[in-house]
Amino acid sequence: MPLSISSSFDAGAIEVVSLARADDIQLAIRADSHADFRQWFHFRLQGARGVPCRLRFVNAAACTYVDGWERYDIAASYDREHWFRVPASFDGREMTALCTPSYDSIHFAYFEPYSWERHLALIGRAQLSSRARITRLGASIEGRDIDLVSIGSESEDRAPVWIIARQHPGETMAEWFMEGLIDRLLDASDALAMAALERTVFHLVPNMNPDGSVHGNLRTNAAGANLNREWLSPSFDRSPEVAVVREAMLRTGVRLFLDVHGDEGLPYVFVDGCEMLPSYTPAHAARERAFTTALRAANPDFQTERGYSRDKDTKVNLSLASKWVGDRFGCLSLTLEMPFKDNANLPHPGTGWNGIRSRRLGADVLQAILAGLSVA
Ligand code: ZN
Repeated sequence: MPLSISSSFDAGAIEVVSLARADDIQLAIRADSHADFRQWFHFRLQGARGVPCRLRFVNAAACTYVDGWERYDIAASYDREHWFRVPASFDGREMTALCTPSYDSIHFAYFEPYSWERHLALIGRAQLSSRARITRLGASIEGRDIDLVSIGSESEDRAPVWIIARQHPGETMAEWFMEGLIDRLLDASDALAMAALERTVFHLVPNMNPDGSVHGNLRTNAAGANLNREWLSPSFDRSPEVAVVREAMLRTGVRLFLDVHGDEGLPYVFVDGCEMLPSYTPAHAARERAFTTALRAANPDFQTERGYSRDKDTKVNLSLASKWVGDRFGCLSLTLEMPFKDNANLPHPGTGWNGIRSRRLGADVLQAILAGLSVA
C-alpha cells in the first residue's frame, strides 16, 4: 500500500510537502482557518506498517510558539482512544520524529484531541443527571451551539462559580479538565460534590470555541478572533461566543471564575491571577492562596513555583477573560494553564501530559474551589 496522509476529519490539520519517501516525509504545520497562528496538527498516516518513517515538520521554526518544540514529543494513537508520545527533536529550524508504526493506520496530533462528537456526548450524558441543566447560550459564527452546563440549584445563598474552557480551541486539555470536573459534580456517591452543591452552583462552558475546535485551529474562531482578547467589547460579528457567555455571567453574577487553558512553552501546571488590578486586595490574595494551597494538596501535578512572571502583564488588560471577570465582579478570578509537553516535576515520558491527567486535575479542582470560597 502506498503511503498516504489525510486530515479531512474533526480537528484535522496538516499540509503535506512530500510523501515520496517514508524516511523523508515532509510536512508543514497549517495556519488557523482565518488567522495566522500556527501550531496545531492532527493527521492520519497509512501504509507505513513496519516501515521506519522520518517525519519532518519543515516550518516548525515559523510556528507561533517556537519554544513549544523544545522538549516536546508528538502525541500518537492507533485506536484514537489510547495516546502515546513519539519522541521528537527540534534543531532550531525543523522538528523531526522517528517512528515505525506497528499497524496500518496511525494518528498523530499536537495533543490528545477532544472531538466535537465527544463534546456532544458529554453534554448529552450530563443532562441525564437531575443535578444538571443544559442551556444553549447562543451560537458560534458558523452556527454551532455554545453549551452551558449548570450544576446545582440557583438560589440567593449559593455562590455562582463560572468555569470556561477552550477559548483557544487547540488547547484540548482544557475540555478533558472540564469532563473530569463535570463527572465528579454529577457523581451521586461523591461526598465533596454533594457538600459543594449545598452552597455553590456551577456554570460550566466546556467549549467556548467549537468552530475553531472543528477546524483544527490553535487560537482563533471562524472569524479569526482570539476570544481571550475580546472580553472588553465582544461583538456578535466577531466574537458571539464571548458575547453570549458574558451576558449570562452578568445575569447570574460570579463569585469565583476559572478560565482553563494549555501553555505551549512551559512544562508545568500553574495559575495566573489578577494582582495587577487596582481592586485586588489582601482578601483577594488570601482567597488565591487558599485555592492554590488546596489544589497543590489535592493534586501534586499543580505547583506554584513556575508560571508567568508576576509582572508579565503589569498593564491591566481587561480584554482577557480572567482580568475582565476579576475587575467586573471583584471575585477570585484565575487563568489555569496545563502543559502540552509533560509536567517536568512529575514526568511520565510514555504519555506526557494527556487527557487522563487533565481529567483528574479537573476533578481535583473542586477541593480548591471550596477552599477559595471559604475565605471571606
Ligand atoms: Zn490559551
